[in-house]
Amino acid sequence: MRIPMIAGNWKMNTTVSEAIELVNEMRQELDQIDNVDKVICPPFVSLAAIKEVIEGSSIKLGAQNIYFEEKGAYTGEISPLMLADLCEFVIIGHSERRQHFNETGEIVDKKVKAALKVGLKPILCIGERLEENEAGRTEEVLTEQLNSSSDRIYYFSGLVLAYEPIWAIGTGRAATGEQANETIGFIRQYISQQHGEKVAHNVRILYGGSVTADNIAEFINQPEIDGALVGGASLKASEFLSIVKQTSEI
Ligand code: PEP
Repeated sequence: MRIPMIAGNWKMNTTVSEAIELVNEMRQELDQIDNVDKVICPPFVSLAAIKEVIEGSSIKLGAQNIYFEEKGAYTGEISPLMLADLCEFVIIGHSERRQHFNETGEIVDKKVKAALKVGLKPILCIGERLEENEAGRTEEVLTEQLNSSSDRIYYFSGLVLAYEPIWAIGTGRAATGEQANETIGFIRQYISQQHGEKVAHNVRILYGGSVTADNIAEFINQPEIDGALVGGASLKASEFLSIVKQTSEI
């Protein structure tokens, strides 16, 4: 059985004190919800403070990005070793990084390998643009993104995948449960062909894109979908709590 996961991507929001306040608002209730992995991914600068706030709870911590070198003259970057000390997960290949920071499949692949090397669990994001979706190229684009991600089984055994159609991110225009289930089914089938049924069966694949407390049920009730990567709605304690609670009740 795959344990469902709800991961909150706070993106570039919250100062350190706002981040602490947000976690404090939901810490107790979140901690008591079972049967679901609860991950919050605040900005880098808040990771250490939040690590202390959630110490001893069942809430897990993730970062939003990583650099692939371990250390050295890379001003402004954050290395896998630094993150391994602080958190368990790291979002890699988010479409906003691919789009605004020119992250190619090759860079994403290096980051995933660097994270796995130090025991961090990547949440690897893949997804197609609106024009690719409308041109019927979704499966082709996803295959390309998955192909640029190494040929080794360990790779898919150690990570969580997030299918995030770019046209659904931050737009309020979520995919339907059926659409997301069908595409995630395709991703799982592809992994099965490449790396075997066991790996494909075990890998968790989340849906991401305008998930809210009002539509989460539509996604988590689908057999292929193992939870959600939540952006905007993860910045409101009550909304995030409701998403996690509903997920724990399936
Ligand atoms: C995201 O940032 O990964 C995301 C899915 O954002 P939103 O939920 O706001 O669409």
